[in-house]
Amino acid sequence: MHKENFLGVDVAPLTYKQVIKQIEKNIEAGEQSTVIAVNPEKVMKAREDEELRDLINGSTFQIPDGIGIVLASRMTGGAITDRVTGIEMMGYLLHLAEQKRLRIFLYGAKEEIITEAMARIKKNHPNITIAGYENGYEDDEEKVVRHIQESNADMLFVALGSPKQELWIRRNKDRLPVKVFQGVGGSLDVWAG
Ligand code: UDP
Repeated sequence: MHKENFLGVDVAPLTYKQVIKQIEKNIEAGEQSTVIAVNPEKVMKAREDEELRDLINGSTFQIPDGIGIVLASRMTGGAITDRVTGIEMMGYLLHLAEQKRLRIFLYGAKEEIITEAMARIKKNHPNITIAGYENGYEDDEEKVVRHIQESNADMLFVALGSPKQELWIRRNKDRLPVKVFQGVGGSLDVWAG
């Protein structure tokens, strides 16, 4: 897949719909997809942090979440014309899950936030299957992994803040049945309102 590169950090020049289309293809091929939001702050941090840079560049889709990325692309003759935000991408993925009957799992945020977010998600997506959830303050990683394995989830949203959530995904993805992973930062807080 063609990527644009800003100071060593890859960004996928794709729209929401193009990301979804590619994710559908990956699911059909039995491949996992990881989605990470990239903004100028992350690019500046990654410039001096090789591990963070590898984490971003090793993801499947680095979405251009920030007008600064759009402007940088324009100035360098790139193809990125609009922002693709983490929270809106999550909305598209929830829609895909509802349409294709994919099971979702939510991991992260405080207990009262995640339960409220789930209620709102169910209200907006009445046919969605929530396979399970876990708040982001459970310290036993093995327990969380087991819970997700047993849930048989297809899609996992991790809200632990960045890069903690992406490191968690990288550490555990090979032993999970999940096909689509997104690090969603404070999005569950936004869902909870
Ligand atoms: N969080 C968590 N466990 C942790 C640290 C953070 O569940 O150990 C949650 C926190 O409650 C909040 C989200 O992760 O819901 C972090 O959101 P933030 O806006 O800080 O992340 P960003 O979008 O800036 O990466």
